[in-house]
Amino acid sequence: MPLSSDNMLTCRLCGQDHQAVPLSAGETARCVRCGARLETEPRGHRCTAVAFALAGLAFAAPAAWVPFITVEKLGNVRTGNFIDGVIQLNAHDMPFLAAWVLICGGIAPLLLLGSLLISRRHPLPAKRLGDALVHWSMPEVYVLAVFVALTRLGSIVEVETNAGFWSYCAMSVALLLAWRAFRLQPPPEPSA
Ligand SMILES: [Zn+2]
Repeated sequence: MPLSSDNMLTCRLCGQDHQAVPLSAGETARCVRCGARLETEPRGHRCTAVAFALAGLAFAAPAAWVPFITVEKLGNVRTGNFIDGVIQLNAHDMPFLAAWVLICGGIAPLLLLGSLLISRRHPLPAKRLGDALVHWSMPEVYVLAVFVALTRLGSIVEVETNAGFWSYCAMSVALLLAWRAFRLQPPPEPSA
């Protein structure tokens, strides 16, 4: 679709530029000069981001409280969830890493999911909030870090992933899909 960064739609047939405007579900935008179809808003499209955001928030609670991993060595078994991880990093003299994990892996993704949840009724505040938060929200980096740690730890101790970790993975995927669905929507009309 010929959609440029400044939200302009260019007609493929005659080259006429148009300012993109929000479309209702099923509505089609046509070129003012030649009548060619520019863009069609799929039915139910605007709900997609909200649905994925709801799914992400549903996975967020178990992701925070249910154990992430279980580590066992010589009969000693320890489990830890997301919050424990942050507390342990801080306790082991890594306060900046703890803050980074808490903000980029916990708070920012949650706030981003919250902003996507209101994106259908309040698209403009959701977009402003989302644009500010998306650079801070990196749950996928945290997932990758846990996978790397698991492969390293696996040769020393017995490690088992638990439901909390998979809930966190599911939340991350839901967040990525919600953000993608939101970005594919036509831009909201600025309020006067
Ligand atoms: Zn045209």
